[in-house]
Amino acid sequence: VINLRTGALAGCEVLVRWEKKNGDIVPPGAFVDYAEVTGLAIPMTISLMQQVRADLGELCARMPDLKISINLFEGHFRNANVVDDVQAIFGGSSVSYRQLVFEITERHPLERQVEADAVIAGLHALGARVAMDDTGTGHSNLAYLQTLGIDIIKIDRVFVSPITAETQQLPILDGLITMARELGTEIVAEGVETEAQARYLRGRGVVMAQGYLFAPALKAAAFRELADALGGGAELAATDLAEAAAAMATRAAA
Ligand code: MN
Repeated sequence: VINLRTGALAGCEVLVRWEKKNGDIVPPGAFVDYAEVTGLAIPMTISLMQQVRADLGELCARMPDLKISINLFEGHFRNANVVDDVQAIFGGSSVSYRQLVFEITERHPLERQVEADAVIAGLHALGARVAMDDTGTGHSNLAYLQTLGIDIIKIDRVFVSPITAETQQLPILDGLITMARELGTEIVAEGVETEAQARYLRGRGVVMAQGYLFAPALKAAAFRELADALGGGAELAATDLAEAAAAMATRAAA
């Protein structure tokens, strides 16, 4: 995730890959739905959080403004166990709660409003923030935005990918941005792949963006190297967005 105004690295989203013993990589689309249905996504998320603590703890201590975003799913919002897990894993660690963002997907409805509210309140009480993921792709879940206490709206790539250099307006995207602003939530645009998309979003006041324009999904060690290469969170000379993106992409590729 980078800041479109300054070119500075703002943080990252934790993604999961399944690497088989023979080195083959199973893409998340092939197992995440299954993990959620079977409940295996709960221990999977615990494992991912433990890996974040081990792999990014030292970096987080050195870069206190770095934000680490972790995906939760509907099953995490049926009881408050995840809040206990977050405390058990990150309490007293080098990753402070305020560096953590927990993403709720809009794709599946949260079944239990009371329990969901308790989880979000528990995460907020620790100092962590909550993001609505895939915003705009659900069917009726926009209603959550006014009741759930969402801090960040992640705008799905389907609204970003139609932007070209010639785009003057995109009513749904522009509307989502306006809605987020009026709700007082931060915005992170996902799936930014071209400079034209980054420019359009920045022109609409979107500050945070993630996507292949800046870096592909990286292994933890490569992300640490990228963060260090970018100078401890110090700002790139990002008067030119293209230069900043190119510099980041080059470093990510290295
Ligand atoms: Mn996400």
